[in-house]
Amino acid sequence: MMQTPHVAVIGAGPAGLMASETLAASGVRVTVFEAMPTPGRKFLMAGRGGLNLTHSEPFDTFVSRYGEAAARLQPILEAFSPSRLIDWAEDLGQKTFVGSSGRIFPATLKASPLLRAWLARLAAHGVRIETRRRWTGWTQAGDLAFTDEDGGARHVRADATILALGGGSWARLGSDGAWTSLLATRGVAIAPFRPANCGFVVQWSDIFASRFAGAPLKGVALAHEDVSARGEAMIASYGLEGGAVYAITARLRDAIVRDGAARLDIDLRPDLDQETIAQKLAALRPGETLTNRLRRTLNLSPVAIGVLREAHGVSLPAEATALAKCVKTLPVMLHATAPIDRAISTAGGVSFDAIDADLQLRAMPGVFVAGEMLDWEAPTGGYLLQASFATGVAAARGALALLARDRVQGD
Ligand SMILES: Cc1cc2nc3c(=O)[nH]c(=O)nc-3n(C[C@H](O)[C@H](O)[C@H](O)COP(=O)(O)OP(=O)(O)OC[C@H]3O[C@@H](n4cnc5c(N)ncnc54)[C@H](O)[C@@H]3O)c2cc1C
Repeated sequence: MMQTPHVAVIGAGPAGLMASETLAASGVRVTVFEAMPTPGRKFLMAGRGGLNLTHSEPFDTFVSRYGEAAARLQPILEAFSPSRLIDWAEDLGQKTFVGSSGRIFPATLKASPLLRAWLARLAAHGVRIETRRRWTGWTQAGDLAFTDEDGGARHVRADATILALGGGSWARLGSDGAWTSLLATRGVAIAPFRPANCGFVVQWSDIFASRFAGAPLKGVALAHEDVSARGEAMIASYGLEGGAVYAITARLRDAIVRDGAARLDIDLRPDLDQETIAQKLAALRPGETLTNRLRRTLNLSPVAIGVLREAHGVSLPAEATALAKCVKTLPVMLHATAPIDRAISTAGGVSFDAIDADLQLRAMPGVFVAGEMLDWEAPTGGYLLQASFATGVAAARGALALLARDRVQGD
C-alpha cells in the first residue's frame, strides 16, 4: 500500500502556515517545525500597529510595488490574489475593511484572533506543529536535522520540504537569517540582507530629538530625486521613520550606499502651492510671533515648526515668500539606515535565479522556499503579508505537483 506523503514545513510564520494549510487541504501529511516556543511571533507583532493584510488598489499597480521582483511574483499573486486573501480571512471569521488609504485590515485590527482561528483550523486538518525545533540543515543521509531546546538532535525524513524561515530582521521574534549559511553551502545563490521599510539616521539637535521623538509629521510629502511619497513620517530620537519614509526606503538606502548620505526634501503642506502659502503667511497680526503665525495661518503642529527650524535654522525668514519656500522644501540629510534588526522587513535572501517557477531550489530538488526569505521587497501597505501568503501557497502547490509526479513514476 502506498503511504501518505509527508511534507516538512520549516517556519511557522504566515508563509509556512499558509503552505501547510494548502498541503493539508490536499490530503498530505504535514508537520510544521518552528524554532520559537509559539508560532507566528512576527505576524503577531505586525498586528500591534494594526494588521494590514493587503491593499485594494488595482492589481497592476499592486504588483508594481514589488519593483524588480514584480515580474516573478505576478503569477504567484494572481494565483493567490488580494481578493482571495480577503475571502480566506473572512472564512476564518475575520471581517475585513478598507481603510481610507486603500489598505485592508481585519475589523479587529489585530493578528491574534485571526491566528487563533487559523491554528484551530490547521489542527482540525491534521497539521502538526512542533515548536522549539530549530532546523540546522541536512544529515549525510539527506534527512532534515533539528535541535530541540536542550540541544538534543532529531532527524526527520520528508518527501518534500518547504522552507519559510523569514527575512533578517527582528531576530528575537525568530527570523534571525541564520539559515543563509545552511543554503549557501549547498550552492544556493543568496543576496545579502538589506533593511527595507526602515528608519534613517538624522543628526537632529539634542533639544529637538528629546522634545519631539515619537511625534508624527502628518500629511507631508517626501521627495528624493525623482521618487516621492505622501503620508506620515515619524520623528525618532535617532532620525526619521514611518509609512511615507518606508514607501521610498529602497531608493534612499541605495543612495546612502552609493553616496554616503541621501537628501530628503519634506513638504509640510503638499496640498497648497508656494504662492497660496505665501499669501496666507502675509496676513500679519501686530506683535504676533513667527511660531504663532505658522500655526494660525497654516495649522502647522509644534513638531512641524520644530523640524522647519531644524532644517532652516532657528531664525526663519519673516518675509512671506521666503518663509513659504522653507515650508515647501525642507531638506534633511539622511546619513545611514537604522539597524537592520529593527527594519519591518528585509530585502535580500534566496535569489529568484536559484529557484524554478514552483519555488523549488534548483540546487536541491524537493526543497521549496516561500515568504520573506526570498529576494523581494515592497513598501508597507499589506504587500509584505500578501506576498508571504501567496508564495506559501505557490511553494505548497509546487510540492504537491512534485509528489504527484513521484507517485505517477512509482505506479
Ligand atoms: C513591527 C512589524 C510590523 C509589520 N506590519 C506588517 C503589516 O501590517 N502588514 C504586512 O504586510 N506586513 C507587516 N510586517 C511584515 C510581516 O510580518 C512579514 O513580512 C511576514 O511575517 C513574513 O512572513 P514569513 O512567514 O516569510 O516570515 P516570518 O513571519 O519571519 O516567519 C518565519 C518563521 O521561521 C522561523 N524560523 C527561522 N529560522 C528557523 C529555523 N532554523 N528552524 C525553525 N524555525 C525557524 C521563525 O522563528 C519564524 O517563526 C510587519 C513586520 C514587523 C516587524
